[in-house]
Amino acid sequence: MNQELKNDLLHIDDLLEAVKLQGLDFLDKLPNRPTTSKQINISQENLNTQGIGGLNALQSFNEKLEKIINSSTGPRYWGFVTGGATPASIMGDWLAGIYDQNTQASSGQGDLSAIIELETINLLLDLFNLPKYFLGGFVSGATMSNFTCLAVARQWFGKQFGFDFAKEGVTKKIKILAATPHSSTIKSLSMLGIGSNTIEKLKIMRGNRESIDIDYLKQKITELNGEPFILVTSGGTVNTVDFDDFEAIAKLKNEHNFWWHIDAAFGAFAACSPKYQHLLKGWEHADSITVDCHKWLNVPYENAFFLVKEEHKMLQTETFQNSNAPYLGNPLDNFSYLNFLPENSRRLKALPVWFSLKAYGKKGYREIVENAVETANYFGLFIENSEHFELLAPVRLNTVCFTLTGEENQSKVNDFLTGLNDTGKVFMTPTVYNEKKGIRAAFVNWRTTKLDIDIAIEEMTKLIVKKHINTN
Ligand SMILES: *Cc1c(COP(=O)(O)O)cnc(C)c1O
Repeated sequence: MNQELKNDLLHIDDLLEAVKLQGLDFLDKLPNRPTTSKQINISQENLNTQGIGGLNALQSFNEKLEKIINSSTGPRYWGFVTGGATPASIMGDWLAGIYDQNTQASSGQGDLSAIIELETINLLLDLFNLPKYFLGGFVSGATMSNFTCLAVARQWFGKQFGFDFAKEGVTKKIKILAATPHSSTIKSLSMLGIGSNTIEKLKIMRGNRESIDIDYLKQKITELNGEPFILVTSGGTVNTVDFDDFEAIAKLKNEHNFWWHIDAAFGAFAACSPKYQHLLKGWEHADSITVDCHKWLNVPYENAFFLVKEEHKMLQTETFQNSNAPYLGNPLDNFSYLNFLPENSRRLKALPVWFSLKAYGKKGYREIVENAVETANYFGLFIENSEHFELLAPVRLNTVCFTLTGEENQSKVNDFLTGLNDTGKVFMTPTVYNEKKGIRAAFVNWRTTKLDIDIAIEEMTKLIVKKHINTN
């Protein structure tokens, strides 16, 4: 065995202890760590022939690279939709690395860690009050979840015309409808050979909404005259967290032939609170659902899952089967994720989720969700009452979409946001909504409190003065 490896194995307790202490120090100081990273140059250094061992590698990392680690897992990183990591999820994540399972199968011999994954999916279905007729699995993020679901939808569409797209390729133009799809859906369509341009935009409801105008959808369905299609819907749009009317869509699904997909990457968590679960009413009738875990579930990246109705198991296997490797056997004989999702070899992603669900339960997640909505409302109220800022849409759940007051300040929005993020105290991301430049603050981190909002408000107020922004 290599001397450095041998040495590290001998002192693994020192190595892990050093990492534990460094991790604890990071977490202790997290609220004060900048939300933005310092830019550094990428080293052009070549790799040494002789290794330096784990402890020296840690020291080298700390000298050169540690400074670019920001506090995106902390309480004031509100850009995109960025979750943190609960203590128990970190426990599960560490162990997932140590156990280093290749999670594929739930029966046979060898690695059976997929049993943990199936069990975790069951817990999640319970958390979301969803029926057990969904088959679920973990992927790296909501993008890959949308990809997985839409890949099965693609196979379904082909079958309506007697084609096997998985085998023959996409030989027919696919009909796909959506109102306000997330960018990752568009990306998935391009990756799937469906084509991102093929998506037909549905009319949205009037009155500052982003959801499908159901009357328009009905009219569209009538025009299609029985032609099958794929409908992509939103359980929480990123700008204004608008939900499509799932109850109405479920009714249409009963009467018409279409594949119904819901991207509920973060909006799914509305199900954790009796106050907000009405937003998802009827969603259990969808064919497939996307949910992210590294957002509102607050587990470390990369973690998301897909749900596809079990009745589509055959379509899913046709799409993802890996059985061209003969030693793996018939895909339907023994359940293996190998035949149900894009990746083959994969980490035990379920473990951080399992730990966090067990540790905090339904009540814990209900409180995480309700706290995030309360902090969003608190921040929204500040925006609403401020002469300097205005809401671009009502705060519907956990996101505040706003801008500087006054048409004349539209040109200053990006500069203001850059200045705000430069403070390192808070991080938000730019957007465009209703043709207006805006700023988004999304609340999903379990650590965020009203005190964090107050810190951000203070910085925003100072910056208005500093930048001489006149909003009267
Ligand atoms: C974040 C998000 C995605 C993409 O998720 P990743 O985890 O970044 O791949 C897709 N849809 C919605 C609605 C999202 O909020």
